[in-house]
Amino acid sequence: MDVRLIFERSRPKRRGVTVPPGDFPSRRIEEMVPAALLREAPPPLPEVSELEVVRHYTYLSQLNYGVDSGLYPLGSCTMKYNPKVNDRVAELPGIREVHPLQPEETVQGLLEILHQLELALAEVTGMDAMTLQPAAGAHGELTGLFIVKAYLRECGEARTVILVPDSAHGTNPATAAMAGFEVRHVPSDSRGRVDLAALRGMVDQRTAGLMLTNPNTLGLFEDQILEIAEVVHRQGGLLYYDGANLNAILGKVRPGDMGFDLVHLNLHKTFSTPHGGGGPGAGPVGVKAFLAPYLPGPRLAWVEGAWRWVDGGPHSIGQMRAFYGNVGVLVRAWAYLLSQGPEGLKAVAEMAVLNANYLKAQLSPSYQTAFAGPVQHEFVLSLKRQKQRGAKALDVAKRLIDYGFYPPTVYFPLVVEEAMMVEPTETESKQTLDAFSAAMLAIDQEIDRDPALLAEAPHRTVVRRLDEALAARQPRLVWAGE
Ligand SMILES: *Cc1c(COP(=O)(O)O)cnc(C)c1O
Repeated sequence: MDVRLIFERSRPKRRGVTVPPGDFPSRRIEEMVPAALLREAPPPLPEVSELEVVRHYTYLSQLNYGVDSGLYPLGSCTMKYNPKVNDRVAELPGIREVHPLQPEETVQGLLEILHQLELALAEVTGMDAMTLQPAAGAHGELTGLFIVKAYLRECGEARTVILVPDSAHGTNPATAAMAGFEVRHVPSDSRGRVDLAALRGMVDQRTAGLMLTNPNTLGLFEDQILEIAEVVHRQGGLLYYDGANLNAILGKVRPGDMGFDLVHLNLHKTFSTPHGGGGPGAGPVGVKAFLAPYLPGPRLAWVEGAWRWVDGGPHSIGQMRAFYGNVGVLVRAWAYLLSQGPEGLKAVAEMAVLNANYLKAQLSPSYQTAFAGPVQHEFVLSLKRQKQRGAKALDVAKRLIDYGFYPPTVYFPLVVEEAMMVEPTETESKQTLDAFSAAMLAIDQEIDRDPALLAEAPHRTVVRRLDEALAARQPRLVWAGE
């Protein structure tokens, strides 16, 4: 097989756009792959008709559960509806049929969209500059901490500690460790917020920064955020905003105005672009002006009357990714921002918060919340009482599948015993929320009536309860046809 042939066939030829030929090797596959690794016979691919293929994939899609099939209240993940208008915009020929790595003069429109998205996201977060390059929230965190590191090095500061709250998402400490920092956990107080007194005792001249999400992972607004920022900044540290919970405050409050120096966003959460198997995501990073020189390159710039990719400059942390985010995803986020407008974004936050508080109240006769008081866009239940009666948070979650709902996040955040974290999002109707709470209340009664029903759930799925830890540790990755 000639690799060049595959490339030739897939090269777009439309609209007179010239695509540079690239330097694909013309060597035969036998010259490039060691003989021992080459197949002796072609793989046994099934010979099937189009109809059979359509039926196969339609069947597979029916086994899947997504936001388009029902409520997906996966706390911390903001699984909101992805409006189809986003897809229609991304499918427009002028967008779908070009590639952002084409010569810049042939993709000015697409580059303009990327620029507008940078501007809009900077406005929403209160930052001065933005990169769309990182591939996901966690990748944005890594980008952000590299920026923190480069900045401190430039200032001649040997700061080695990143602080994270004990309620933080696991990616925060993991990212800090990957970026070469020492991680220290700040305790939560009895109100589920950062313990300010403890923070004061922990911040010193070794503190590089504090990573925080606001509202926090318990769905609670850090109402002492200005004091927190003061404590960190006075000692010379930076304040990093984990944007995964931005949905609750969209258009209402901006991280930049709360004292944050840099942020990442999860477009697949707040900005209604598809999640899916860990990707395709996008995790743009925004910074205040003093950190802008450290952003990854290439950067989008207006040079002599056109958009160009320019080098990141002498202070840039370098390139974080082969290219520049998932462009199709970025276009969807841009479409979402345009279709919502400033008032629409505010309404998103208001409805998300209203829905969460409504659902929390509906569940309160049977389920205890981890912390008292109103919440933002999500809330955390503690199923301690259910556990004493014989059903763990996992059992309740699995039983919800039989009622037709995707289960909420369980056993996270770690600071709550038997945690169940519910995030309804703004896109769900009152009827759906009522149906979900009716299912939750019915399941609570089943615990006393028929505990085995929960212990053995789910009962109506193609596969029953899986040993998820075993599946992760010893995955069987053999194709059935082999
Ligand atoms: C989802 C999430 C992340 C990680 O984001 P990904 O886009 O999944 O990599 C980080 N922090 C919080 C609080 C999250 O909910």
